[in-house]
Amino acid sequence: MPVLFVGHGSPMNALEDNAYTRAWRGLGERLPRPRAILVISAHWETKGVLITAAARQRTIHDFYGFPQALFDVQYTPPGDPELARTIAQMLAPYARADLDSWGLDHGAWSVLLSMYPEQDIPTLQLSMDIRLGPQDHYRIGQALKPLRDQGVLIIGSGDIVHNLRLFDRRPGAVTPQWAVDFNERVKARIAAGDDQALIDYAALPDVHRAFPEPEHFHPLLYVLGAREPDEPVEFLTDDVISAVSMTSALIGAD
Ligand code: ZN
Repeated sequence: MPVLFVGHGSPMNALEDNAYTRAWRGLGERLPRPRAILVISAHWETKGVLITAAARQRTIHDFYGFPQALFDVQYTPPGDPELARTIAQMLAPYARADLDSWGLDHGAWSVLLSMYPEQDIPTLQLSMDIRLGPQDHYRIGQALKPLRDQGVLIIGSGDIVHNLRLFDRRPGAVTPQWAVDFNERVKARIAAGDDQALIDYAALPDVHRAFPEPEHFHPLLYVLGAREPDEPVEFLTDDVISAVSMTSALIGAD
């Protein structure tokens, strides 16, 4: 099974028909049908690593200031309690299966609504332990790699560039050159297989403008950890809008 990093951007993608949602729909049709989906979303950070273990997922509306229609969106695929326990064992002693505290947040469902609109594939989320550093996030991705051979689609959902303070919402806003350059810098290292340079992202030029906090970048480290050396990389939805990158990276697909 390939592994995917997706730039999810605005939750409003869940309601829109645009170039991104069409690309996500195409991806769902193109990829081999997963037995299950495991999402690492920028929007679930915890102490310790949790895995959603409910038999059916609930929809978490983890934002405010958006239209009611977005709060009305429901994405409630089955979970897979057995798989949740298996993953917890794979990540022992870090991780535990978690029944109650979460479901699927918009980092997962705003994209999966387009990719898998039938809501019939068992879907789980794995939280990011806020206390861990980038090398640890990468190692967890490495530990998850065997799931790919079991038909599990691992998706890291974030944004390579994510600075809402510098984000210009006006139509026609110009994307700053530093944001384009940072996005290209990261893409070049993904394509070159230079994972260590991305684990050491703190040394990348303009990193503090690209993301004041790393939670939208960290899901990429799980995806990189789960890849094999020399797997093909394909970039999709490759736009930077003001200070948010929509770039996705599909790794290991035919
Ligand atoms: Zn986000």
